[in-house]
Amino acid sequence: MKVLVLNCGSSSLKYQLFDMTDESVLAKGLVERIGIEGSMIKHTRTGMDAVSTTTEIPNHKVAIRLVIEHLLDPIHGALSSLNELSAVGHRVVHGGEKFAQSVVIDKEVLDVIEECVPLAPLHNPANLMGIRAVLEVLPEILQVAVFDTAFHQTMPAKAFTYGLPYHYYEENRLRRYGFHGTSHFYVANRAAEILGRPVEELKIVTCHMGNGSSITAVDRGRSVDTSLGFSTVPGILMGTRAGDLDPVMILHLMEQEGITPKAMSHILHKESGVLGISGISSDLRDIEEAAATGNERAALALDMLCYGVRKYIGAYAAAMGGIDAVVFTAGIGENSVLVRQMVSEGLEFLGAKLDLSKNNIRGKEAIISTEDSRVRILVVPTNEELVIARDTKALAEGR
Ligand code: AMP
Repeated sequence: MKVLVLNCGSSSLKYQLFDMTDESVLAKGLVERIGIEGSMIKHTRTGMDAVSTTTEIPNHKVAIRLVIEHLLDPIHGALSSLNELSAVGHRVVHGGEKFAQSVVIDKEVLDVIEECVPLAPLHNPANLMGIRAVLEVLPEILQVAVFDTAFHQTMPAKAFTYGLPYHYYEENRLRRYGFHGTSHFYVANRAAEILGRPVEELKIVTCHMGNGSSITAVDRGRSVDTSLGFSTVPGILMGTRAGDLDPVMILHLMEQEGITPKAMSHILHKESGVLGISGISSDLRDIEEAAATGNERAALALDMLCYGVRKYIGAYAAAMGGIDAVVFTAGIGENSVLVRQMVSEGLEFLGAKLDLSKNNIRGKEAIISTEDSRVRILVVPTNEELVIARDTKALAEGR
């Protein structure tokens, strides 16, 4: 069975074609600047060089057509006919409280994704554009939605409710939803496999640390708390997002400086975090370099980031009544030897001891704790696309 996985943004589209008989990736690519001058597609058939084409791509429908053309190409393609394609799986950011699992997309599901647009105003409209484009170009194909929020729907009310008047939850849907669920699910389960133990026996803290970051408490395979919330701003310090703040400070600032909600949103999402503190970059590689050469604000950003992660690990260990493993993933978690070391310093009291030489790896699966560490520390590169492909296959087979 061949499955196409799509991750549609407002002006971009990432894709991977899987052969689900062995879960291999046959081809992948990226369409960029959809609807913007200079749009292009970069396509790679596994084992071959990438091909890039700059061409007019005014909308997602044209983008999907182009992806299909590339997948059918006799040299760079990986399908001999469209009949070989069994289903399309989409990453969808927000499923609200309706979806705790992946679903086959029908009219009703489309309506719910639409209803969730106010909860994810930047992402859900783009995801919908992608789904509708596939509907037009391949009207017969089975489409599946895999939600970023779904894995966190197991959180108990005490973890997802905010301390505001309760009617704001009932009427305005203000609650913690959490994001990166597909990634947390994948790395928690993969860590259990690597440790050779059922995930149902383990208490794991998963640290997804990239440009956007979240920490999740995974108690016997279920998310019971997570650091992102109603929005993608809270939790630990991110590339350009602020992390946890005192909300009254925001009101104070808006009033004192006459800042509009829109401008404030820009500050919180785009000007804060590692960039806002360091004043130089949102990219952690730049920050590590600057901190190493004496830049104090870069060093502060690095310290704040690692201190924040360590606090969440401690808090979630307490929330779960213990901890068996800590997992690092995403761009920073997979690659930053320094961040993993700084986060782990001081976790020894929990029984988590980092092995400095084992920690000296980037981008591959490894257990990086010492032999005698009761709590295992792991690096597990995330693979959200594979989870989407697996869910899509399972739903396609179930029909
Ligand atoms: P992601 O959003 O998962 O693609 O992660 C992007 C983040 O990972 C950026 O902040 C990068 O600076 C960071 N990153 C990638 N490679 C490294 C590395 N070798 N060392 C430190 N940070 C890295």
